[in-house]
Amino acid sequence: MMSITTTFKTRYDVVIVGGGHNGLSAAAYLAKAGLSVLVLEKQPVVGGAAISLPIFDGINAKLSRYSYLMSLFPSQISNDLELRFESRKRAMASFTPTVRDGQHKALLVSNTDPNATVESFRQLTGGDSEYRNFQHFDALCSAFATRVWPTLLRPLVTRAEMQKQFDTAEARKAWEIMIEQPFGVGLESILHDDIVRGLVFTNANIGVLTHPHDPTLLQNRTHIYHIVGQGTGEWRIVTGGMGAITQELARAGREAGAELVTEAVVSQIGMGETAEIQFTHGDRTHTVSARYVLANVAPTVLRRMLPEGAMPAPEVEPEGSVFKINLLLKRLPRLKASQYTPYEAFTGTFHAAEGYQAMQESYQVALNGNLPELPPGELYCQTITDPTTLTPELREAGYQTLTLFGVNLPARLFRADNDGTRAEIVKRYLKVINQYLDEPIEDCLAIDAHGQPCIEAKTPLDLEAEIGLPAGHIFHQDLTWPFVDEPMLAGTWGVETAHPNLFICGSGALRGGCVSGIPGHNAAMKVLECEGKQ
Ligand SMILES: Cc1cc2nc3c(=O)[nH]c(=O)nc-3n(C[C@H](O)[C@H](O)[C@H](O)COP(=O)(O)OP(=O)(O)OC[C@H]3O[C@@H](n4cnc5c(N)ncnc54)[C@H](O)[C@@H]3O)c2cc1C
Repeated sequence: MMSITTTFKTRYDVVIVGGGHNGLSAAAYLAKAGLSVLVLEKQPVVGGAAISLPIFDGINAKLSRYSYLMSLFPSQISNDLELRFESRKRAMASFTPTVRDGQHKALLVSNTDPNATVESFRQLTGGDSEYRNFQHFDALCSAFATRVWPTLLRPLVTRAEMQKQFDTAEARKAWEIMIEQPFGVGLESILHDDIVRGLVFTNANIGVLTHPHDPTLLQNRTHIYHIVGQGTGEWRIVTGGMGAITQELARAGREAGAELVTEAVVSQIGMGETAEIQFTHGDRTHTVSARYVLANVAPTVLRRMLPEGAMPAPEVEPEGSVFKINLLLKRLPRLKASQYTPYEAFTGTFHAAEGYQAMQESYQVALNGNLPELPPGELYCQTITDPTTLTPELREAGYQTLTLFGVNLPARLFRADNDGTRAEIVKRYLKVINQYLDEPIEDCLAIDAHGQPCIEAKTPLDLEAEIGLPAGHIFHQDLTWPFVDEPMLAGTWGVETAHPNLFICGSGALRGGCVSGIPGHNAAMKVLECEGKQ
């Protein structure tokens, strides 16, 4: 997406620092409400971590370079902004391969055929009791999700007010497990099989270095955001890739009159009744003023833009622990667990080395400053469910895109030698994947215009350099409870700062995180409230 503005007004109602999908969501709401809005994005394209583009030279296959599955984007935002994008259900939810008694087995969870799930549990665990436990756990997640999901686009309530919603025995149990005790306690009391436990725990381990009994409850807070989406927790594929959401948000903003400027790097913000925002665009430095500033950048990035002392430092600096690999394949590989087809294995989320015990071991190894031998990760294939990201020729030839989202690899492991460690981790992940395949994944890789295999890897430090995620933290900072503990904060939007006209509109707001547009919406509502328009 090219820059569309090269001259600027001197004053705007609102300047938004960062053109990630949340900044664009806020821009569209505020421009529609009649405010003048300028969005300044550092990269040549808007969208931050929600973009899709062809990344391998000479091959017209689009990949969602960073984020890839959607659950948390509310239909209310789509309706308010009249967005036109489509999401698709995956026929399978997940596939977790393992080796038991020397045999290659797997756990398949279908989204469309409950009998296939029952049968897979039976084959793996030898009966139906763990399936019933899994269903029980799922029911607790639903009881939680249906109560929390409708609150996310409203002002915050206190913990006690939120807890009042949990008014049945099942809901009270869900509250206890998800909120009051380390997630591992409830999980282990209900589920007994290592693979089933691991499958459930992955939602708590997304993007952060944690473990089931972490006393900070970071694992609980992370888990919540991965099960509440739409009140069901289902993760869907966006047709055309994650960038389709961003493009629609950008279109809605532009059509409502917002100015979106790419390759505009904000360096300083001076706060006062009117804020002064300094940025470079091309070879020039510009300053514009605004009545409100919305920060789509991470809070720690924002702090560096403000005068010293204008924003308190966090108690703990954010650190990400995600390693992303994007691949283009000539064909899907065959599996060692040959009772399952590649279609069954790769339609949903393919969990590799994500047993419950294995995840805790890799956590401990990483915490001790070492690289896990077999790092855990999950694979997803967009093109089985949505082939529109491939040209008809590539589809015809059987090409598929595959993405690996690796966990428990904190930024600190890469600081001494980012390039060398990236290469080593790619090697280890290929080994992890190959454990389960009947043919090496390397044999299935497509070749780019330079004769190189189509494989791209991003470390947490790469994510920081490219899209400004602090130490690669994919949520800008650790996720928060969906309520507040301080009664004084009840009724706020979770976007406020110490400055009355500076708000966080990105993932770093309370209830931010994931591709949701929620903090963008909430920051926009805060501005409209200040304007007396809410
Ligand atoms: C590898 C990866 C995989 C993920 N997978 C998923 C997933 O499958 N599903 C999901 O829901 N979530 C996923 N996430 C998380 C999700 O992508 C983020 O939570 C979400 O994109 C945050 O959106 P945002 O608009 O708040 O911020 P961002 O997307 O981080 O956007 C911030 C923007 O600010 C810009 N910026 C930074 N500094 C400056 C500056 N000085 N001047 C101007 N602009 C600046 C950046 O370039 C960027 O465009 C993933 C994230 C990553 C990194």
